[in-house]
Amino acid sequence: MRTKQFKAESKKLLDMMINSIYTHKEIFLRELISNASDAVDKLYFRSLTDDTVGLNRGDFCIRLSADAENRILTVSDNGIGMTAEELENNLGTIAKSGSLDFKKNNEKSEEIDVIGQFGVGFYSAFMVADKVTVISRAYGAETANRWESCGAEGYTIAAAEKESVGTEIILHIKEDTEEEKYSEFLDAYRLSSLVKKYSDYIRYPVKMLFNTRKKVEGTEDEYEDAVEDRTLNSMIPLWKKNKSEITEEEYNNFYKEKFYDYEAPLKVIHSKTEGQATYSSLLYIPAHAPFDYYSKDFEKGLALYSKGVLITDKCADLLPDYFSFVKGLVDSEDLSLNISRETLQHDYQLRLIAKTIEKKIKSELVKMLRNDRENYEKFFDAFGTQLKFGVYSEYGRNKDAVADLLLFKSSNEDKYVTVEEYISRMPESQKAIYYAAGETVDKINMLPQADAVKAKGYELLYFTDYVDEFAIQMLGEQDGKAFVNICAEEADFGSEEEKESVKAKNEENKDLLDFMCESLGDEVTAVRFTEKLGEHPVCLVSEGGLSSEMERVLKSMPGAAGVKASLALEINANHPIAQKLIDLFASDRDTLDSYAKLLNAQARLIGGMSIENPAELSALICGLML
Ligand code: ADP
Repeated sequence: MRTKQFKAESKKLLDMMINSIYTHKEIFLRELISNASDAVDKLYFRSLTDDTVGLNRGDFCIRLSADAENRILTVSDNGIGMTAEELENNLGTIAKSGSLDFKKNNEKSEEIDVIGQFGVGFYSAFMVADKVTVISRAYGAETANRWESCGAEGYTIAAAEKESVGTEIILHIKEDTEEEKYSEFLDAYRLSSLVKKYSDYIRYPVKMLFNTRKKVEGTEDEYEDAVEDRTLNSMIPLWKKNKSEITEEEYNNFYKEKFYDYEAPLKVIHSKTEGQATYSSLLYIPAHAPFDYYSKDFEKGLALYSKGVLITDKCADLLPDYFSFVKGLVDSEDLSLNISRETLQHDYQLRLIAKTIEKKIKSELVKMLRNDRENYEKFFDAFGTQLKFGVYSEYGRNKDAVADLLLFKSSNEDKYVTVEEYISRMPESQKAIYYAAGETVDKINMLPQADAVKAKGYELLYFTDYVDEFAIQMLGEQDGKAFVNICAEEADFGSEEEKESVKAKNEENKDLLDFMCESLGDEVTAVRFTEKLGEHPVCLVSEGGLSSEMERVLKSMPGAAGVKASLALEINANHPIAQKLIDLFASDRDTLDSYAKLLNAQARLIGGMSIENPAELSALICGLML
């Protein structure tokens, strides 16, 4: 018989398993039982609409048997089975390469993480077995096939005998070594406790024959050997159990296994709802965003069960986009099993469920924000951008649902604050909510305008997320307070007197300012003096709704080439440079022209903007040096 080679990726994973130093090798059993349960699910689901399957709900089961003498452990199921082709495709290649994608290099220390973090599936059998045989007969097939492998050399597939539909996984358990007692996986009691630990909620019975002793009937104290068929798992899905019976560890393990996360969730929301819609839901808020979360590959959704039977793994309609980070499942009493993916969308019950789920998530997040700030901030670091998208998208249709969940970094102790907290701290003289947008908090702090706000004793919100400004524009006024960009012309904290004196100075020097504006072409729409700059010589101020930061964001998107913020160059009237400019206007307009360009370039750099013509700037600076 020809030995076939494993595909390269599979071989890597297989090698990892064979040479594993992982200490929880016992999880192989969980993996094999999960696979068996999935296979049974498939056939059971079919049996609901197809009488020829010939099995009732109660007939489906998974069976373990251990033969210590020959070191054989068998996991069998009467599920859907595999054809020769499926054996080849499913077991010769790794189906879910998430584990390898995640793990880019092959170092030992990382191996442990990968095994613990992800389900590694069928190949985990090679952590405890030196030979694995799979005999499988697919539903609808008359014949069976045998897949066999001792690991690295490859595998063989040949025709075989099997009486009924299903799959048998036969493990030849490795010999014990100094460090590893593989024999434990041949011990009925040990196996039974592993099933309880990892596979208790599997919905089909996991059975095993136990050798026991039984009292001989009619005698007082005579015993005889007997065999008892025991079901090892309780079969109650985790979400159907009472909250009080479930430990945090059970919730977390279920999450990690089912949703392939290595980190425990930040929050578990388990609830049963009765009334218009009757359902149980088990929802999780992850502690970090999946690597593809902010990409178009990410698919939101909750698993949907009807009376314990899986209808779809990802029902997108159950979650609004702004809560797309939530993982979990819904099990409803009201949905028909025959419901298809297409009709789901229009299902009244489903829409009702979606609505209550959304409310539940919202109220739990609000609770977390109030009572568990540290975790909420961790949550917000991971998913805050998505919430802000929620405010902004669909023309702000959902903004009210999300607004009070938003946090912003603030100059007040450099911490996160809610808008509500910000407003509650505002001094009486403060009329608006002040913010500045930039790449980082440090860069924002370097803005000349930032000094002016802080000098007034006002708190400043730092917008470092590209969607921030767009979101708050959609949000509009909060509690009667508008959001004002400190780099916008409205942000003027000067007294009436100061304003008057600046106005006079601007009028007096109108020709100078017009000249400079002309020099700068379409870079600016105005040049003027200001009193608000403290020690700084210049700054740029945006006029109209579009800030320079928004311009930067929009320009990075396709189809937005023509977008331009309208900017005014403001010159510190109290800085010596002001007098210099006035003098130059009288004596040397060529130099004034260069100085206008230099000052504008400085203001752009300070404001975190790029320079349109760096070569020209360089030439101007050299001109000063020579
Ligand atoms: P995963 O279960 O994550 O897809 P596995 O390596 O565990 O990855 O299994 C690969 C595939 O082999 C499964 O997706 C399934 O199609 C098939 N398979 C494994 N075990 C069984 C089984 N007991 N019965 C039927 N098919 C199985």
